[in-house]
Amino acid sequence: MSNVKITFVGTGDAFGSGGRFHTCILVEGPMNTIAIDFGASSLIGLRREAIDPNSIDVVLLTHLHGDHCGGIPFLLLDAMLGSKRARPLTIIGPENTKAHLERLQEALFPGSHVMQPKFELHYEELSPGTRKEAADLVIDNVEARHTRETNPLAVRISLGGKQIAYTGDGELTEELKRLVRGVDLLIAESYFYDKSVPWHLNYPDISHLDARRVVLTHMHANMLEQADNVPEECAHDGYAITI
Ligand SMILES: [Zn+2]
Ligand SMILES: [Zn+2]
Repeated sequence: MSNVKITFVGTGDAFGSGGRFHTCILVEGPMNTIAIDFGASSLIGLRREAIDPNSIDVVLLTHLHGDHCGGIPFLLLDAMLGSKRARPLTIIGPENTKAHLERLQEALFPGSHVMQPKFELHYEELSPGTRKEAADLVIDNVEARHTRETNPLAVRISLGGKQIAYTGDGELTEELKRLVRGVDLLIAESYFYDKSVPWHLNYPDISHLDARRVVLTHMHANMLEQADNVPEECAHDGYAITI
């Protein structure tokens, strides 16, 4: 069993609530460094934390909303033109990830399709409910109840003998409860504090999830107002823990 470090590079929602960066959670295990989600502002978030983007081996995307995947074109252009990446990079996401990201890159940087990375770039797509294994990394997922067109997933990764689950965006479901039960760390969306907004996990749902440690993220302004008053651990940009 090894120590696994988790850095919350971005803890915001799609609307910049609290001046926070979009979702990106960096997980450093003994053999792999994984960025879970990479929103439109996540490259800026990495720079702010002085984290080298080339240190990331795997990006794991939960769904195709811009606050969770919109930073990939920036990451790839930086890897080719700025950071001069040489190490392989694997991008894992739900079905349609590769085609969606290629369209997104061409929309944001017209003409960039002619550029070919000098590093190995792999895409892998996850069907709901399937397991993926790579080196010491195991990824399990369940379908999330969120905007259907984003192919939303909740994920659980195992590495270094630790289990970390992330709800992504989505409502409380029985499948989500089963996925996260007993994990060493649950990173949970907590969107609204005092009302149940559809398609999201909200604060009243958190007590229905059973994990050894819970950290809340992806908070709307309505939840951020209560972050200092709730007993749960609430992440902020730059928050780092070791499990
Ligand atoms: Zn989101
Ligand atoms: Zn979303």
